[in-house]
Amino acid sequence: MRLGIISALAEEQNGLIEAMESPVKASYGMRGYTAGKLWNVDTVCVLSRIGKVAAAMTASILVEKFGVTHIVFTGVAGSGDVGVRVGDIVVADSLVQHDMDASPLFSRFEIPLTGLSHIASDRELTRRLSSAARDFLQSEPGSSQFHRGLIASGDQFINKRSQIAALKDALPELLAVEMEGAAVAQVCFELGIPFSVIRTISDNANEDAAVDFMHFVQTVASRYAYGILKNFCIPT
Ligand code: SAH
Repeated sequence: MRLGIISALAEEQNGLIEAMESPVKASYGMRGYTAGKLWNVDTVCVLSRIGKVAAAMTASILVEKFGVTHIVFTGVAGSGDVGVRVGDIVVADSLVQHDMDASPLFSRFEIPLTGLSHIASDRELTRRLSSAARDFLQSEPGSSQFHRGLIASGDQFINKRSQIAALKDALPELLAVEMEGAAVAQVCFELGIPFSVIRTISDNANEDAAVDFMHFVQTVASRYAYGILKNFCIPT
């Protein structure tokens, strides 16, 4: 396995590059890629920046130029369900692009010419990542919960109750909203690369989202990413 680790923001990945053995840096297409051994796993870390196009480009380059065989996206997200709280972890079983709508030519959310609206993450990678996340939460004080299910991505920071309610109406199984995961899912599906997406909930996608997001990203996000990826690379 050569593992690609993508996050949108530096705070979501801080510490991982420092933990790498003999890191080698390369710059390509305005992104910095760092390759090395992360707890004995051959890894390439990169920040995609924000949004679906940025994430799709980064995932493609990880595969085509840096030869990764598996991809994990780790970052933060807004809650898409009342039972999913700030500090909880959501691992995607499947992902949907919530701003994809080519109706009436295709049904809402369907990615034209794939026949799919929901793209499933890789079962084995997702099982391993889920177990890493559960172990991490067990070692944490507090009452953060683990969830597995649907994550929706779109080129919008969701910060209104009406917006998140409308999405939940259209996608009742929704657990979290973010801006990159489903783009990585499409690239990996089309290139035949196993992938998984893990998100820590930073906000409730409502009017308080911007403040909650900033606070969470600065204080907690990287500690979660570090702890979970460490468990992932060194399975018990
Ligand atoms: N003002 C911030 C913008 C971050 S956008 C900045 O300049 O850094 C939010 C990022 O976190 C995206 O990468 C997205 O994937 C995730 N995210 C967290 N909460 C979100 C929400 N409520 N809606 C959409 N994306 C969210």
